[in-house]
Amino acid sequence: MNAPVSALETGLLDCGADFPILAQPVRGRRLAYLDNGATTQKPRVVIEALTQFYEQSNANIHRGVHWLSQHATDRYEAGREAVRRLLNAPSARDIIFTRGTTESINLVAQTWGLSLKPGDEILVTGMEHHSNIVPWQLLCERTGAVLRHARVLDDGQLDVEDFRSQLNSRTRLVGIAHVSNALGTINPVDELIRMAHGVGALALVDGAQAVAHARVDVQAMDCDFYAFSGHKIYGPTGIGALYVRGSILAGLPPWQGGGDMIRTVSFERSTWADGPQRFEAGTANIAGAVVLGTAIDYVMGIGLDRIAAHEAVLLAEATERMQALPGVRIVGTAPHKAGILSFLVDGIHPHDLGTILDTEGVAIRAGHHCAMPLMTRFGIPGTARASLALYNDSRDVDALVAGVQKAQKLFGVDR
Ligand SMILES: *Cc1c(COP(=O)(O)O)cnc(C)c1O
Repeated sequence: MNAPVSALETGLLDCGADFPILAQPVRGRRLAYLDNGATTQKPRVVIEALTQFYEQSNANIHRGVHWLSQHATDRYEAGREAVRRLLNAPSARDIIFTRGTTESINLVAQTWGLSLKPGDEILVTGMEHHSNIVPWQLLCERTGAVLRHARVLDDGQLDVEDFRSQLNSRTRLVGIAHVSNALGTINPVDELIRMAHGVGALALVDGAQAVAHARVDVQAMDCDFYAFSGHKIYGPTGIGALYVRGSILAGLPPWQGGGDMIRTVSFERSTWADGPQRFEAGTANIAGAVVLGTAIDYVMGIGLDRIAAHEAVLLAEATERMQALPGVRIVGTAPHKAGILSFLVDGIHPHDLGTILDTEGVAIRAGHHCAMPLMTRFGIPGTARASLALYNDSRDVDALVAGVQKAQKLFGVDR
C-alpha cells in the first residue's frame, strides 16, 4: 500500500514501486513512461481507493438522508478540501469540481464571460494550450470581444514587455499557462497577474502542468481563477477543479442547470444554490473527486518541493545528454523550466521518432501538443516531447537517449 518514499542521498525520489503499471513490460522492454504531460500513471493507493469507494462508500451525494449518502457526501467534500490544501485556497467553497482543465476554462468563459461587451479584450500568451484559446474564441464570437496574444521569445520565454504593452483599459481577463505543456517554460505568473490587476483585468491561470510538479499557492499568486486536471496529478480522468476567488464566485451566474445546483425550482422561477454547488449540476464524478483527494494526499505526503527538486535534477540530466547528441535541437530553453523536454532530431520526423522509441519501450509524445499557434510561431509542425513525473529516474533518460541514437542509426543520420 502506501509505500514509504525512500529518498536517496542525492535527494532523488524512488517511488516507481508505488505505480503498478510501471512494472508491466511494454513491447518486451522495461517501460520508460515519458508522456506525463499527456497524463500521469496512478499509484496503487489511488487505484485501491477507487475500489474501496465503490465497496464501502458509494451513494449519491447531497440528497440522501441515509447513512451512506451522508458518508459519500463527506468523502466528496473531503476531496474538495484536499484541492483547497493543494492550492492553498482560503476556503473549500472557492473550489468547483469539473471534468478537468478544459471544462474549468469553459466554465469561466460561459459564466463570467457573459458579462463581456463588444470591444472588451482577453489577452493570452502565445504558448497556451488550445484549452486556453478556443473557449475564448467562442466567447469572442458571441460577445464581440477581442482575443489577443502576447509574443513568445526564441528560447520559449514569454515576452513580458509585449504582454505589458498589450494590456490596456479594455483588457478584462488574461489567460496564462503556469507551465507550458509544449516547452516546459514556467511563466512568471505573479508578475503577470500584478500587471493584469494593474489595468483592472482578472487573471486565469492554467495549472494543468504545474500542480503535480511544484507548490502552488493561489493566495500568494493572487490569481482570480486557477484550473487543473486530476489525471495529470496521479488521479483519475474525468475529474478536475477550478479555483475561483470567493468574491467573484459569489457573483457568477449558473452554468449548466439541473439537479444539485438549485435551491428551489418552480415553473415560474428557480433559485440557485450558494457556493460551488451552483456549478455542479447533475450527479458528479463522486468517486473521482474522492480519489482525487487520495492522489493529492499522496503527492503532498511526498512533498511538492521534493518532487520539483527530483524532476529538476532529471531534466538537467536529460537536457545535457540530449544536447550532446549531434543533430538534436531542444525547443524551449527558457531559464525557468519544469520537467518537459521538447526536441527535434535532424532528418527524422517526430512521429517516426516516437514510433521507434515505442519499440524500445519508451513512451513519448510527438506532434503539436495542442499548441498549434506556438508551433506555427517556431515554424515547425511539432516536436517530440519527453515529460517527467516523480517516478521517472535515470534509467528512463538512458532509454530515451539510447532510443534516439538507435533512430538516428536506422535513418542513417548518425554522425
Ligand atoms: C493537458 C492540458 C490541458 C487540458 O487538460 P484536460 O485534462 O485535457 O482538460 C490544458 N492546458 C494545459 C497546459 C495542459 O497541459
